[in-house]
Amino acid sequence: MKIIDSIYINGEFVKPQGNQVFDLISPTTNKQIGQVVLGNEHDARTAIAAAKEAFKTFSQTAKAERIEYLKRMREAVSRRKDELVDVMVEEYGGTLQFCRMSMEFTLSGFTAAIATLEKFDFTKKMGFSEVQLTPLGVVGIIIPWNASNGFIAGKLATAVAAGCTAVIKPSEMSALQTQLMAECLHEAGLPAGVFNIVNGLGETVGAEISTHPDVAKISFTGSSTVGKIIAREASATLKRYTLELGGKSPNILLGDADFSKAIPTAIAAAFMNSGQACVAATRLLVPESRLEEAKELIQTMLPLFPVGDPKEETTAIGPMVSQKQYERVQGYIKLGIEEGASVLTGGLGHPEGLENGNFVKPTVFYNVDNKMRIAQEEIFGPVLSIITYKDEAEAVEIANDTIYGLQAYVSSANTERARRVASQINAGRVLVNGLNHDPEAPFGGFKQSGIGREFGIYGLEAYLEPKALIG
Ligand code: NAD
Repeated sequence: MKIIDSIYINGEFVKPQGNQVFDLISPTTNKQIGQVVLGNEHDARTAIAAAKEAFKTFSQTAKAERIEYLKRMREAVSRRKDELVDVMVEEYGGTLQFCRMSMEFTLSGFTAAIATLEKFDFTKKMGFSEVQLTPLGVVGIIIPWNASNGFIAGKLATAVAAGCTAVIKPSEMSALQTQLMAECLHEAGLPAGVFNIVNGLGETVGAEISTHPDVAKISFTGSSTVGKIIAREASATLKRYTLELGGKSPNILLGDADFSKAIPTAIAAAFMNSGQACVAATRLLVPESRLEEAKELIQTMLPLFPVGDPKEETTAIGPMVSQKQYERVQGYIKLGIEEGASVLTGGLGHPEGLENGNFVKPTVFYNVDNKMRIAQEEIFGPVLSIITYKDEAEAVEIANDTIYGLQAYVSSANTERARRVASQINAGRVLVNGLNHDPEAPFGGFKQSGIGREFGIYGLEAYLEPKALIG
């Protein structure tokens, strides 16, 4: 059993002042695998003070110096990437397939920040003035459990690129992953205080970060519910914030789409990260006339996405992160049945032979009305709803009939047609004909999926404050 009893403040691993202990439970077996001693408000304040002090000099560093730091961070993380993958599989229950991909995504966070920084000009000419883009100050980074180290990399890399310093609060459920990441980042040798990591609960450490007057900005990824709390808390000191929140992504298969390609892509997009993904394509919109074909193909192709031990190379869907998350997903499957949706595959309970972990049967509903709660609320598990539409206009209307707007997907034999439909969808990213990722394109949500953008120039500018020198 591993004990994590330190946090990272001012360039050192130190004992937290907090003494609350949180058990780390394997999602695969529900056996205890470790313990973490959580930090508290005092620890958060010490970390913020360290970041504030470090900001004085770090904000003055040259672009070339920060590029060098980012390269060292990427190298230090890359050196231990196999260990980082293993601990993610063990603690989070992500499948080996997913965790390897997530590791590449983690590294691309540094690579993309370097690429953006290299091209970025911190001084612009506007009118007859000089506009200087200056780093905001101390950034509070608050993140969830579903791709923890990827979020640390993406957000911290942008903070460093901007010349900001940071206090990071990961989920208490990610302590083993965080510890290894902290060790890697420590190896990169950044000046003390530039980044600090405090394990702790949302209502203590998270709340302290979102209310503290010395924190200039919050970069948050998590649920819309907590995002709204943070926005409220942050408003007392007018902090800037970027909020990356929930989603209920539509995936429109247009009438001319090649289902032999689009259906496996749809399953992969719905069940990625075992369904615990903000961008999961959980509403599959198919033309009424092709419903039977879609159902048949899903049934034929679902066995290609086996549920099982996340350590197995072939497993595509692993357990839910916690028993609480398992119960939540079960609650939604029950709700879908009660609401009158039909179960195509899956249903309640554990898959056979996987009763000891938080495994869910990948569930596909049809006869779903977009007004049903299973079509409107984020489930965060492997549950897919098939919704039919009559024509393209109705498909767009259904796609946009949601409080969310994080990501969407469109497939068509005609790329121009797919792009035309994509332009009508209210979402921060629309993936056309496949699961493409561009780490330099902006990422973020319309509507209640969030505020602001991450990555690329939009992401970097969100850590900067424009200052005009006139005359
Ligand atoms: P969560 O909102 O419960 O928690 C996220 C983080 O906020 C955790 O570190 C938590 O401790 C902290 N927190 C909780 N209460 C707080 C408070 N009062 N003040 C400050 N911090 C507080 O989310 P979760 O359950 O860890 O993760 C799942 C959610 O994250 C889903 O809704 C998912 O859609 C969302 N998510 C969004 C994105 C995105 O990029 N848009 C990516 C991944 C996950």
